[in-house]
Amino acid sequence: MDHKEYTVLIIDDQETSITALSRILETQYTIRKANNGIDGIGMAEAFQPDVILLDIMMIDMDGYAVITQLKKNTATKDIPVIFITALYGDENEEKGLALGAADYIIKPFSPAIVKLRIRNQIKMLDQFREIQHLSMHDQLTRLPNRRNFENRLCLEWRRSHREGTPLSLMMIDIDRFKNYNDTYGHQQGDVALQTMKDIFDKTLKRPTDMAARWGGEEFIALLPNTDLEGSSKIAEELRGNTEASEIMCPMKNTVTRITVSIGLCVWTPDKDYNLDEFISQADTLLYNAKNMGRNQVCF
Ligand code: GH3
Ligand code: MG
Ligand code: MG
Repeated sequence: MDHKEYTVLIIDDQETSITALSRILETQYTIRKANNGIDGIGMAEAFQPDVILLDIMMIDMDGYAVITQLKKNTATKDIPVIFITALYGDENEEKGLALGAADYIIKPFSPAIVKLRIRNQIKMLDQFREIQHLSMHDQLTRLPNRRNFENRLCLEWRRSHREGTPLSLMMIDIDRFKNYNDTYGHQQGDVALQTMKDIFDKTLKRPTDMAARWGGEEFIALLPNTDLEGSSKIAEELRGNTEASEIMCPMKNTVTRITVSIGLCVWTPDKDYNLDEFISQADTLLYNAKNMGRNQVCF
């Protein structure tokens, strides 16, 4: 099966309906099929389709019951559902829309209209995803932003607490960055900040690791399930990779460098500990690293 960007899940108990719909959609979309509500709900959760086409009149569980379940589950509640049904009449359509359906199509359907209604949902989806991405990332460095990081930190904190695994947190601040800006200009300062993303990408290799722009020239990184032995190595690598990275300054036709100071804190969360103290401890350690001469890791 060749790769298609978007997936449509069809939930319908009539094979002929499923076949007719897949035939008109399969050139454009990856199609998943379920011939009853229970399977449909399971597939929606497992495969995260972009759009769901849902029949109303089905034996066992009708479409209204299916959409009610989908909207209750955080994993499926944002997937647009289009009812496609022989059940006409304002009352039925009103009920469908009230339950959260994105659209309502009456059978027998026009293939062109079905395609266009799906396309409309996908357009809105793209816009929604773009806005969501913008709200979670820093525009300059393209790193996750503070809000994004805080969400993840809360999640990982709870997970670590549950599983009794260590959580490593690094607070990272560029050294004498005011000087850098004064010497090379603010625009070049922005370039230096952007290179931090490459340095993080290169240094933090586990899929669960996360670095973010905390503010200004300050960054923060989280290494779940990592003890001091592991994270102090990574912190030292981060410091070394930053120091070694050559940042071209085209205006002055010269290579520039920056260094960072890092506060590293490793906790195994417990009911007596709190998250704010964890962050402020990393902050304190960062300032120790600054006081001890910068370009170093303090833990
Ligand atoms: P220290 O080693 O103690 O951290 O010294 P510092 O100069 O890095 O720290 P200070 O907090 O005094 O100054 C931070 C500087 O970072 C000031 C500001 O101009 C610069 N900065 C913060 N955000 C940005 C940004 O988005 N772009 C640029 N170019 N500079 C920034
Ligand atoms: Mg600084
Ligand atoms: Mg600072």
